[in-house]
Amino acid sequence: MNTAGSPKTVTILGATGSVGRSTLDLIARNPARFEVFALTAHRDVAGLAEAARRVGARQAVIGDESLVPSLREALSGTGVEALGGEAAVIEAAGSGAQWTMAAIVGCAGLKPVMHALEGGGTVALANKEALVSAGHLLVNSAKSSGATVLPVDSEHNAIFQCFDRSHPGSVSRVILTASGGPFRRCSLAEMRVATAAQAVAHPNWSMGAKISVDSATLMNKGLELIEAFHLFPLPAEAFQVVIHPQSVIHSLVEYVDGSVLAQLGAPDMRIPIAFTLAWPDRMETPCERLDLVRIGSLEFEEPDSQRFPALGLAREALRSGGAKPAILSAANEIAVASFLESRIGFLDIASIAGETLAGFDPPEPRSIDEVLEVDRQARAIAVAQIGKFAS
Ligand code: NDP
Ligand code: MG
Repeated sequence: MNTAGSPKTVTILGATGSVGRSTLDLIARNPARFEVFALTAHRDVAGLAEAARRVGARQAVIGDESLVPSLREALSGTGVEALGGEAAVIEAAGSGAQWTMAAIVGCAGLKPVMHALEGGGTVALANKEALVSAGHLLVNSAKSSGATVLPVDSEHNAIFQCFDRSHPGSVSRVILTASGGPFRRCSLAEMRVATAAQAVAHPNWSMGAKISVDSATLMNKGLELIEAFHLFPLPAEAFQVVIHPQSVIHSLVEYVDGSVLAQLGAPDMRIPIAFTLAWPDRMETPCERLDLVRIGSLEFEEPDSQRFPALGLAREALRSGGAKPAILSAANEIAVASFLESRIGFLDIASIAGETLAGFDPPEPRSIDEVLEVDRQARAIAVAQIGKFAS
């Protein structure tokens, strides 16, 4: 609730996804605190209509315009306005809500995120690919509109909670934790024949398919290094990664005096989402409480760059800057989609991302349209590689 006692107005982009559903769960538990403006999805008409009814949204927007008639039918008699098409999703992002959840997966979320930031409200940012591809542009847009960006990604949310933003010079290092994914203990030979079902079976977190595969390759942690670089004012080398299989510590911030602050909690995305929904206050969640005695011990190890080359590729893209992060993210999206369709092997994902990254060097994009053009070209190069690797 706002200080005045009126409900906070919210919009959820990607409402039918894993993060979107967790957000809706918290909102549905607190109907007096939130008023829902718009919910968006891509093709999941039934999920979108059900969510819009449940939280009494004003608008439901489906990205695939051909599905508007079925959305209208699913919402008939509810008073929820049914809209569709890419432009309508972008418009919904600028709905004027006080709080917008950006949880569309991939580069498809870039224009909506930009539009939400231009609106100047609070943007809870889950869509890491947007920040990776167009970090400087998004950060500058938030600065000029006065928008507040609150990181949803659990690591960045943890860092946000521990980072003394009024004294950034007192921070010496940020350590992002990574679970290591389902193949942490697998040999290269086992990883070569890993199936999509094995890759999406994350040991600790329940997430959408794309980010689950990214967690298995460690590309997720690579994208998160780039994401962190845009969110927190430190040089690239100050961001490090440690494998922590229990996913209890979500990240750590080290200060110049040697003090280290960390945020801990159950691996449930509703905790960081609730932080952004209630910020600067806190709200209750139904999430499991941390039982340190039951957990017993926490482990840490170095990431293995041989078996998980994606992390090194992301470091390279971050060091080179310019268009490179956008190229890496686009090529990875293509490779992950092909892997999920069983067209390429698990290890081919990083190979395709690496070859696309090395073989394409356009100038730095200066606008969202230029980023999208780099994205389009990088995808075309990656698609051409798929044939080479396809079994
Ligand atoms: P999901 O795949 O579960 O959901 C994606 C959402 O985006 C769905 O609502 C989907 O609609 C919508 N969508 C997909 N493609 C388009 C498109 N072209 N245009 C408009 N909408 C589209 O993803 P997650 O919820 O797992 O992840 C969302 C984002 O949050 C990702 O960037 C991810 O990296 C990030 N994130 C996720 C975490 C998690 O725990 N899941 C943790 C940290 C970050 P439809 O259902 O209709 O296809
Ligand atoms: Mg994360």
